[in-house]
Amino acid sequence: MKGFVCFRHFAISLMSGLLLLSGCSQPQPTPEKPRDLSVLFITLDTTRADHLSCYRPEAVRAVDRGAKTPHLDGLAARGVRFAHATAHVPLTLPSHACLFTGTYPEVHQLRDMGGFVLDPKHVTLAAMAQKAGFLTAAFVGSKAVGRQFGLQQGFDTYDDQMPSLDQEGKLPGVFPERRAAETTDRALDWLRKQTGQRFFVWVHYYDPHEPYDPPEPYGSAYPKDPYSGEIAYTDAQVGRLVDFLDQSADLKRTIVVVMGDHGEGLDDHGEAAHGIFVYDDTLHVPLLIAGPGVPGGKVVGEQVRSIDILPTLAELLGLPPNPAAQGLSLRPLLQGGKLPAGTGANYAYIETLYPKTYMNWSELRGIRTDRWKFVLAPQPELYDLQHDPAERENVVKRYPAEADHLEKKIWEIVGPPQSDQKLVYTPVDSQTRQELASLGYVSAGSSRELVLNMKGPDPKERVGTLHAMQQYNRYMKAKSFGQAVRAMEAAVRADQANPLARLYLATAQEKLKDWRQAIKTYQEAVEIGVATDQILSRLGKAYLRVQEINKAISAMEKASTMNPTDLDNLSNLGIAYLQSNRLPEAEKAFKAIVVQDDRYAAAYNGLGLVAIQRGDGDTARPNFEKAIQLDPQQAEPLLNLGLLYQNTGHKEQALHYFNLFLEKASADQYGHLFPKVREAIQELQRGG
Ligand SMILES: [Zn+2]
Repeated sequence: MKGFVCFRHFAISLMSGLLLLSGCSQPQPTPEKPRDLSVLFITLDTTRADHLSCYRPEAVRAVDRGAKTPHLDGLAARGVRFAHATAHVPLTLPSHACLFTGTYPEVHQLRDMGGFVLDPKHVTLAAMAQKAGFLTAAFVGSKAVGRQFGLQQGFDTYDDQMPSLDQEGKLPGVFPERRAAETTDRALDWLRKQTGQRFFVWVHYYDPHEPYDPPEPYGSAYPKDPYSGEIAYTDAQVGRLVDFLDQSADLKRTIVVVMGDHGEGLDDHGEAAHGIFVYDDTLHVPLLIAGPGVPGGKVVGEQVRSIDILPTLAELLGLPPNPAAQGLSLRPLLQGGKLPAGTGANYAYIETLYPKTYMNWSELRGIRTDRWKFVLAPQPELYDLQHDPAERENVVKRYPAEADHLEKKIWEIVGPPQSDQKLVYTPVDSQTRQELASLGYVSAGSSRELVLNMKGPDPKERVGTLHAMQQYNRYMKAKSFGQAVRAMEAAVRADQANPLARLYLATAQEKLKDWRQAIKTYQEAVEIGVATDQILSRLGKAYLRVQEINKAISAMEKASTMNPTDLDNLSNLGIAYLQSNRLPEAEKAFKAIVVQDDRYAAAYNGLGLVAIQRGDGDTARPNFEKAIQLDPQQAEPLLNLGLLYQNTGHKEQALHYFNLFLEKASADQYGHLFPKVREAIQELQRGG
């Protein structure tokens, strides 16, 4: 096995919502029987209602920005447009969970972007449709709603296959995504194969999420407002889906629902993106419902909520009601009526734990009604939306009785304050937990707890940190890493206990290849007790860079204990074990990935490397092949297969894989290996 020795070092060294009739209402369609209807459910990620042209009449701010959205406007004209739909959480996963379960976060328990999995006891809208005999399929635009979080429940097809992400310098909250066109292609492929059975299709478009990089011609059409360019592009993709259904005559029997999961701050309250605040910038979302039985060209002025979608569709489709749902069917509003009094319809509970989990600031909760927005923060806020729709003037002192009433409503909805204080992370379902335990990841998910007590800095007092982060993002984009470091150093000094600020700082330090400074930045977070699992996993990676393998392993082990769902961390940990020749542990780390995601290409590459180190080429080969099959863009298993064939005297196959490697590998990441591979090719061609 002499050949494998140099091969091993060679391969692992690579790792590095008053009904108003609009002027142009259309003739009422004859209602189809509910049993004949299909559903196209589209969610628009990160899409502010006021950035769609059909919402511009009410828009209070976006006079000089926003997209032309002819296809969405067309749906609004054919159906009902809800002028004030409120999402409950300004975050992708929790907000989608409200849509699919018809419940608030305290019930569905997907409280943040990670650390939670939907319990199968929740009967989702998809599961209700599936049970009623619909074919169900989902085509999502980002791993932010990946199957591991549980939203796949009830879907026969759940397409969440994304290109792999460059792991280097990846920031928390950045998920692999794919363009809307590809998601649409896949949804259309599926729809073309259907032969008349009712379907429930969910299509999720992630493009308006940052980074904003709309493809042409939208990039050129919105040179100063790429965010709106992304919305315009997404609108065109919605158009492709609707046109297809129109041409195939399915549109006559399909209810189309389009809703946003949350908006985008755009610096209206000091936040560029979303997650920190609960202002309408990030919680006022578009909602359009069109199709059989839905009148055309109407606008509903009353506030409606994400949790109302499940009961509404259940009623429109004739499904048995879901008793767990906390929302109400909006059918009376569609038909020009009112929602029943005394049902709490006008109260939308809102929350975000993101300031707590990512920044160590206070979490925020609130209530929005047609008239008021109350935000429960260390310094509470009240806005009179009738007179101040942009939420500029806090009138909490002027209207103490309203504030008091709305705060009581919060606790009526979520339970008494004490009941929601200790939040225990449950990052995996119970079966996965057992499987992980059998691999030695015994404390999987039990060790992490969050205290929700409104303690910590008030997020609105920390817009300085948010501005530094924006500045940082600009510098990083311009590759001015030194300036990025300086911007974040000041922010970290002013906001010491903020783990995300530290991650930002260390990421810029890593870009400068200043691994020692990055390690120091992470270590300080450990010392003052604010290290998150991301900080620990990144600390581990930084230690790998400086060849301190034991410290790397120790940090990544702690990270995997805090959060065993961080598959990239497990992958890096597996590599570190490999480098220390700890084969059984390496194998367990890669298997712990496969238990959670059996399509994670790098885990098979890792299992192949474990086999190689054991001198077991027969086990290694199918693992490398599986890695390539799962992700043909991954260069590393190509190289590994080339080496494997070279070592076993299979010259043609070796040449094939070496050449494929040179074709696919990025010079940035693998350039240093190119000369060696070319040399090996020449040698093989010489007959060596
Ligand atoms: Zn989102």
